[in-house]
Amino acid sequence: MRKILVVCCTAHAFGLSVTPFGLSGTRAAAARKARFCSPHAMMAPADEGECDFLVIGAGANGMTFVDSMLLANPECKIVVVDRHEMPGGHWTVAYDHVKLHHTSIVYGLESTKLEGSWSRLALQRRMLPWDHCATKRELLDYYAAAMERWCRAGSVRYFPCSAYDFSQLQQQDNVSGERLHCWSSLVDSREHRIVVRHKLVDGARGECRVPSECPLDIPVDPRVALITPNELNSSSVTEAARVVVLGAGKTAMDAVLQLQRLGVPPQRVTWVIAADGWMLNRAPSTTLRGSTKLFAQALLRCDGDTEAAYATLEQEGHFLRLDSSVTPTRFRFPTVDLDELERLRRVHDVVRRGRVARIDLCAGAPTLAFGDGQPPLNLPAGSLLVHCASPGPLHAATGRRRLFESDGVLNLGHVFQPPVPVSVAAIARLEAARVDSTLDLAFGRDVTGLQEENDVLDALFTNYDLSPTSTDHLRPIINLASFVCLLDPDPAVAVRWLRNNRLSLYRNLLPFQRLRVCEDVGVLLEKSKVLGLRADEVRQLRQMHQTKLGAVRGE
Ligand SMILES: Cc1cc2nc3c(=O)[nH]c(=O)nc-3n(C[C@H](O)[C@H](O)[C@H](O)COP(=O)(O)OP(=O)(O)OC[C@H]3O[C@@H](n4cnc5c(N)ncnc54)[C@H](O)[C@@H]3O)c2cc1C
Repeated sequence: MRKILVVCCTAHAFGLSVTPFGLSGTRAAAARKARFCSPHAMMAPADEGECDFLVIGAGANGMTFVDSMLLANPECKIVVVDRHEMPGGHWTVAYDHVKLHHTSIVYGLESTKLEGSWSRLALQRRMLPWDHCATKRELLDYYAAAMERWCRAGSVRYFPCSAYDFSQLQQQDNVSGERLHCWSSLVDSREHRIVVRHKLVDGARGECRVPSECPLDIPVDPRVALITPNELNSSSVTEAARVVVLGAGKTAMDAVLQLQRLGVPPQRVTWVIAADGWMLNRAPSTTLRGSTKLFAQALLRCDGDTEAAYATLEQEGHFLRLDSSVTPTRFRFPTVDLDELERLRRVHDVVRRGRVARIDLCAGAPTLAFGDGQPPLNLPAGSLLVHCASPGPLHAATGRRRLFESDGVLNLGHVFQPPVPVSVAAIARLEAARVDSTLDLAFGRDVTGLQEENDVLDALFTNYDLSPTSTDHLRPIINLASFVCLLDPDPAVAVRWLRNNRLSLYRNLLPFQRLRVCEDVGVLLEKSKVLGLRADEVRQLRQMHQTKLGAVRGE
């Protein structure tokens, strides 16, 4: 409680408006920083008492968990700890020209529209809601406002500039039933301790690895002119003989587009692409159909054949590729519109020789070496390299991990296709139901043969591995079925939640939009052999289909 007052008073002490909207540019950034990272906030006592949940990470995931948990259980007391000085996770250190790739209407928090009022968008910005892709500033203001609301309401205590050491989880003594957790201030190294009544929530280990915080992991001659997208501006590029973009993901696409905005002719740009990926079309016809769930459903139609699913989605106009003569080999959910695609295609000097293995400087000119016997790329002296090749959000650490790890630990992750927040909202909703004892545990125990509630949840509702090598793309359908069956004895409760949730891909945006969970599980069972489902998965899905999902057929 003391902390809440300190944080709130700080805003007034600095003479700032408590509403982040309306502040602009660097003033807004300074205000956000002052509000959450003042020296006063560091004077809190080391004994922080108790809380229900201790959330590590104030990124999109941690923030969504807090929001959805408070919606389900407004009495809950939550503490949030984060290394950064303001909420927003990787967005706080992203390049200034970054924007959401997906539409804002399915990103952020369950309680609050990221895109703002739909009528204001239409009248003031002449924009349809699904065309809104939030800027970095909009995202930071949005998360700062939410944190401030929760702190003012007394639901949340927020500790920015603080680090939690996860190794303590191995030494945790839960025998007494008390779960004591510690973190340290990065400002004055002071240790803070708290007793957690329910769970530690790990919203940090899937953290997004962006270039500004994740240097290239290959040998690079220190004399090479190498920048991150954060340093991409008119003064950094004007002198460059050539600008060389390293990376194939959305950060690289953003860099290529930004270079054109900065007036660099595409002929002066080289784009080094290790592997082409499929992109989602941001057109409303794709976006409003819950763009990313199209992939799992295409896989069902194509008997699990990934290549055939890609081809079908391309024919239908939902998937796009950079070069019509190059077949992409992977899909990591980047989204572009047709205008952006046309501008990306203006760069003709695209180098496809696999991953860069090292970067040297020979007589003032950079040379890129590749593996697999590929010839090196010799660049002219004075070339500027832009590092856009960090792993981003979908790296190996986000792969297989128990979500409902134990009675004391909950890990946030992906259970449906991106956008990510709906996955975290669903995890929070299940956890709230577990705390309130409203889960259909009898059904879960019957289906799994397990007794302990976290084990039951964990067996049926598993992390969707989105790392580049994943073959787990039917997982979202299985998780959706589990969610509908477990959340409540009445499956209509979960369906209503999904329908009314602004983050959900299954909400009623279009009259013909259907959840199709019963129908999709029916197809999974019909094609279980060709789809390679395990015997225990088939048995569990059959039981869900026969006993609960029939009640939501046609939804
Ligand atoms: C350029 C870009 C554009 C994107 N666009 C979209 C989009 O349009 N739609 C979409 O769905 N996704 C998008 N994503 C991905 C999406 O934003 C991420 O998946 C999501 O934000 C990840 O959130 P997170 O909270 O897990 O991670 P982060 O945002 O990285 O937050 C993790 C937080 O944990 C904190 N932390 C880590 N370790 C500790 C510790 N030991 N102690 C204390 N704190 C710690 C960090 O300080 C950080 O603030 C985009 C990603 C990038 C890079």
